[in-house]
Amino acid sequence: MWSPLILVTGSLLAPVTSAAVTGLVVESRGQQILGDATENNNFECNLPPALSPSSDGLPSAQDIFSGEDALLKQVERHSTIVKIPSISYDDNGDPGEDPRWDVFYELHKAFAYLYPHVIGLVYTIQGSDPSLKPLLLAAHQDVVPVADAATWKYPPFSAHFDGRWLWGRGSSDDKNSLTALFSALETLLGNSEWVPKRTIVLALGFDEESSGRRGAGTIGPFLEERYGKYGIALLLDEGGMGLELLGNDTLYALPAVTEKGHIDIWLELHVNGGHSSIPFPHTGIGIVSDIVNQLESNPWEPKLVQGSPIHNHLVCQAKYSPDASPKITDLINSGDLKTLTQELVSIDRPTQYRIQTSQSADYFQGGVKINAMPEYIKLGVNHRVAPHNSIQEAKANFVKQIQPFVKKFSLTVKAFEGEDHNPEGLGLLLDEGDVVPMYDVDYNGTLILSSSQVTLNAPVSPTSGPVWDLFSGTIQHSFAFDGGRVVPVGELMTGNTDTRHYLSKYRPGRTPFHLAYKHI
Ligand SMILES: [Zn+2]
Repeated sequence: MWSPLILVTGSLLAPVTSAAVTGLVVESRGQQILGDATENNNFECNLPPALSPSSDGLPSAQDIFSGEDALLKQVERHSTIVKIPSISYDDNGDPGEDPRWDVFYELHKAFAYLYPHVIGLVYTIQGSDPSLKPLLLAAHQDVVPVADAATWKYPPFSAHFDGRWLWGRGSSDDKNSLTALFSALETLLGNSEWVPKRTIVLALGFDEESSGRRGAGTIGPFLEERYGKYGIALLLDEGGMGLELLGNDTLYALPAVTEKGHIDIWLELHVNGGHSSIPFPHTGIGIVSDIVNQLESNPWEPKLVQGSPIHNHLVCQAKYSPDASPKITDLINSGDLKTLTQELVSIDRPTQYRIQTSQSADYFQGGVKINAMPEYIKLGVNHRVAPHNSIQEAKANFVKQIQPFVKKFSLTVKAFEGEDHNPEGLGLLLDEGDVVPMYDVDYNGTLILSSSQVTLNAPVSPTSGPVWDLFSGTIQHSFAFDGGRVVPVGELMTGNTDTRHYLSKYRPGRTPFHLAYKHI
């Protein structure tokens, strides 16, 4: 996930809470799969008490990270790493072979210089009580490429600080987490008497923006080997909708407690070619274009699930900020989820796709010559799977949508052969039935469907119970302001983060334990 530029002051001045967490302190409370969630059906958004760590004997974060000097120090730290273009490209080779990774050594040199107490990619600060499972704090070092630096107000790696905002690629995704985590640890480790009770592990991937396979994908198994399955108490990673102030007196903290699933579906059409002077009524490009049009004409159904994070968020909003959106408040209070769903879909796309599976035809390749009908066409469709849908449904829907064209053009289909997470009855879905080609044309076409980047919908971390209360209470304390109220409530992440590599190592299906709070 990325966004072009961002805020410094708020997040950097409260380093610990400005990152994200995942974990399993409380083994009796499990994550929920939406649709099964009944526990929160009567969610009332009662807040646990704010928690002040004033009895821990350490200097207060408020003192350390407040004031002009503290701000400038954080600007120096943050701008130093934002200036380093640690880009991960989708087609990067392995580190050591592809020189494009070399820039990360510059980043590590900067860490060593900025934070002499903390160096490396997996940092472990041993706790004094070995019976407590570790806390895992995650962030990623890489950023997405810059398409056109000329369109930026300030150069993307300049880290220009205008007194309020620090501008630069990665300044809010996710180098803010790096700066926040390191700053907190640097301060704590600077106190020679400080030893955490619970072991703290920092896991810093370097290719989150292009799947996370090499970074977090390697760190996950390493940590599992070291701590065993389900051996982490809490994981805090980036992600979430940040902070939202409503009515000047209520500040919502919206860490993601779940992530949408992900699947890229690829369609390859091999079809007869020929000379363009005597073309078929449809070339392969025409056939695949029909399929794209069919998909776009049939978007996924939005659904607001009772007890889901977004529903709970709106319950909190209706309770503490009823005038912020009177229509939503009325619909929440009346329990009219259908109308509320339509209302949410009409607000904007970010809101819509928190309750709807997205599909986006992003890749199209076909044709090599202006006077030859193409023989090979490739289409790629990106899907982000909403909590009430599944990977299997995404595949089944794709097969369903291509059916009219399979029949019309008498195509042979090979769908998702040898893959996991296929829908039940895939063979039946592929039943081509009576083939009635519209012309006496033998396209001799074969459609091959395959998928990549499959990530199952993340389970929902609990937003009640002792772990949540600790997290929520700490946020309420850290972001407290005069005359106002801080309301932490879980939300949903429409993209995926490195968390998926840690969850896949630790997730025991639907049995108790994870907590995947994402950054604020
Ligand atoms: Zn990110």
